[in-house]
Amino acid sequence: MIFAHHSHVFPEDIKEEGSIDNLKRLLDECGIDKCVAFPCFHDRFEESSHTDKPNEWLYNQLKGENDIYGFGIVDFNAKSMRDEVDRIADYGFKGIKMHPAYQEFDIDGEKSFEVYQRAEELGLFITFHCGMHWHRLRGVRPILYDEVAWNFQNLRFSLEHLGGYHFFNESLAVMCNNSRGGVQPRVFAGWTSISDKNGNGEWTLTNEQLETIILQTGEERSLFGLDFPYKNADYIKYEMERFKNLNISDNAKDNILGKTLAKVLDVNYD
Ligand SMILES: [Zn+2]
Repeated sequence: MIFAHHSHVFPEDIKEEGSIDNLKRLLDECGIDKCVAFPCFHDRFEESSHTDKPNEWLYNQLKGENDIYGFGIVDFNAKSMRDEVDRIADYGFKGIKMHPAYQEFDIDGEKSFEVYQRAEELGLFITFHCGMHWHRLRGVRPILYDEVAWNFQNLRFSLEHLGGYHFFNESLAVMCNNSRGGVQPRVFAGWTSISDKNGNGEWTLTNEQLETIILQTGEERSLFGLDFPYKNADYIKYEMERFKNLNISDNAKDNILGKTLAKVLDVNYD
């Protein structure tokens, strides 16, 4: 079974190519059984004619969908971050997608700490965009995720893209540095949008780097992600093939392609 992390979904009138129907077509084409989906951020809803909120929209869209698992997003303009997280749990979502550069929050800021605290209490998984994203780097440096892991030892989270080409080593250091104490494993690597297909792009991780992740952090801390709709079926199929040909064990490959994510989110895997 293949269970992929990290896809973005949009109402059709906001971004047609990012619709849930298109996501399902992509899953079919790539032979992927299940995936996790995040709604787009609040600004996209606010500039549209939608009167609902992203989490509410996603919740309604996913009723009756057995293979797509929702994650929520928090609104940093809300009065209470704790209430934001509570609502995400009430919708039955498994986790929270957070993007420090896009949402313009500090990874180690007061408001974000309120989010981590409540997510830890409720057992919600957090998925962070990790790496540059055209925002001041000092607030989003991957090393700041070490503060999250140290302060919230029972919170599980992933570093998507593992810092990309620029911050790979720093992100790997955060994973290795937090491999003792608290809930284990706690910090995960998101193998998302990291293709080497066209040379070393901003997000590329090489085969050698991927094999190094497994060597240094073990076989249970890596999650394959789609980044739909920003990545298409050809890209995703190329990556799945690449992962299958890495010099790592078959068990590690099964884990990356879904077994670990199923375990972490408590989803049936067969
Ligand atoms: Zn993404």
